[in-house]
Amino acid sequence: MRRVVIIGGGLAGLTAAVRLAPETDVIAVDSRSRLGGQILTERHGRLTVERGAEGFVFRSEAVPRLAADVGLRTDLIGQSVMRSYGFDGDRLRVLAPGEAAAFLGFQVPRADLGQGIRSFRHGMGSLISALRSHLQGRAELRTSTTATRVEPRGEGVRVVVGDDALDADGVVVATNAKGAARLLASVAPSAAVLGAAPTLSSVTVELAFDRDDIDHPLDGTGFVVADDAQRGGLRACTFTSAKFTDRSPAHQALLRLFFRPELFEVAGADALDDEAWRRRAIEGLGRVLRVTGAPSGSWVSCWPEALPVFNHRHRTAVADVEASLEGRPIVLAGSAFHGSGIDAAVRSGEDAARRLLRLTPHGSPPAR
Ligand SMILES: Cc1cc2nc3c(=O)[nH]c(=O)nc-3n(C[C@H](O)[C@H](O)[C@H](O)COP(=O)(O)OP(=O)(O)OC[C@H]3O[C@@H](n4cnc5c(N)ncnc54)[C@H](O)[C@@H]3O)c2cc1C
Repeated sequence: MRRVVIIGGGLAGLTAAVRLAPETDVIAVDSRSRLGGQILTERHGRLTVERGAEGFVFRSEAVPRLAADVGLRTDLIGQSVMRSYGFDGDRLRVLAPGEAAAFLGFQVPRADLGQGIRSFRHGMGSLISALRSHLQGRAELRTSTTATRVEPRGEGVRVVVGDDALDADGVVVATNAKGAARLLASVAPSAAVLGAAPTLSSVTVELAFDRDDIDHPLDGTGFVVADDAQRGGLRACTFTSAKFTDRSPAHQALLRLFFRPELFEVAGADALDDEAWRRRAIEGLGRVLRVTGAPSGSWVSCWPEALPVFNHRHRTAVADVEASLEGRPIVLAGSAFHGSGIDAAVRSGEDAARRLLRLTPHGSPPAR
């Protein structure tokens, strides 16, 4: 049977694994101690806290199809409310449909503006759990395992993983751009330029309050902050408990603040600690809403250099690397290469699986 190694167990890598697994011996590795990459949902008592992505574009066909294939069809939910607010430094006003998403900077296509997003009843992490369960017994999933190099080996490839080497017929590189630059250094010298791929960092702070401590109807998805009114990097706030059903009990309010930090604020010696982000979040929220009590819970999620920026240079770099890999059983997958966001990650993972199946029609695996 054909053998494929997938480097990166985020949504793109896991999607590729699901699409390859029936006909392929799949080994997926991820350097983190968990699968899911930029998707991580936690349950704290009766609160559902998203640390990474909270949903996906409404028009997506790929995500609902994948969800149905792994048994999650009935868990799909839409937003409970559509109205969004904008804060101009002085007061909140209701925004026109589509005005808010443009502020969040996820490079949302025009057609998606004002459509809202979809998610899963128990959070985006349920998609990762369902993918993992689906792959149980169909693929080998290794966490806390970092791949360091991809080398050609005969007609196949060798993936170096610590002191170990995995020989395979093909490989899916579903990491971030910097990771791909390092992994592919010896097979595609043009990949070096991916090491300088532009990215943005993100910090989110989820705060849980007693509902009565927030003097606002919370009758919308949240608010965005106008560019010239932003302080400390606070750009937006999701009224989590209003936007999606079942995220908190009725007597509590869950609010998620989104920051766009400078890199030094989230990585390196001068990085702010969780308490500093929590204080920033409470102060920032206090500029916009009248809050009369302290939060009963807070969850800070720092994502240094996580969000790819698809400028002309990066698109060209990805195209050059893919051209230099042409015909080899080495494919890129994921939002670092083929468009940011959940829908793009799934489509890219599916496409990677299709390309590898074409490139390795007759697997002839060497010993693992
Ligand atoms: C805070 C935040 C909020 C977001 N909100 C939304 C949203 O609401 N809607 C939306 O559509 N998108 C959102 N996104 C973006 C979305 O989450 C990502 O585009 C998507 O999850 C990326 O999936 P991926 O598999 O391409 O990459 P990742 O999730 O980044 O996965 C890559 C994986 O590769 C692993 N890896 C890297 N190098 C190696 C190596 N050498 N060896 C082994 N493993 C390696 C990493 O550990 C990681 O798990 C958000 C992102 C963030 C950070």
